[in-house]
Amino acid sequence: MEDTIFGKIARGEIAVERLYEDDWVVAFPDLNPQAPVHVLVIPKKPVKNILDLGPEDRELAGSVLLACAAVARKLGIDSSGVRVVLNAGSDAGQTVWHLHAHVLGGRALSWPPG
Ligand code: 5GP
Repeated sequence: MEDTIFGKIARGEIAVERLYEDDWVVAFPDLNPQAPVHVLVIPKKPVKNILDLGPEDRELAGSVLLACAAVARKLGIDSSGVRVVLNAGSDAGQTVWHLHAHVLGGRALSWPPG
């Protein structure tokens, strides 16, 4: 898979505010926030999106979800509500081809998405 800006962030080659990190994932603020809280959780392993995951990625996938919840708790949006979004593919709006979960909250979010 081609390297991306998120690959560089995962490897620490680009500095970001690391809001959460473990062996599997890194979380950092989105550059262009769409809500008062807008954090991206990425796996350290380069994977294009959820459609690129295999059975060997169970721990990675679980780690991404657990990290989303940890970020929500850390940033204090766990009691009011949090939305986790995983865009996969161009029609879904994916622009960076390294799996990332958007963690959004801090305001009432509308549904359905556009
Ligand atoms: P996608 O549309 O692929 O689901 O989301 C990509 C997200 O990455 C967008 O919300 C965009 O603002 C964010 N983003 C793109 N480049 C960078 C960057 O260099 N740093 C950070 N922190 N976020 C980025």
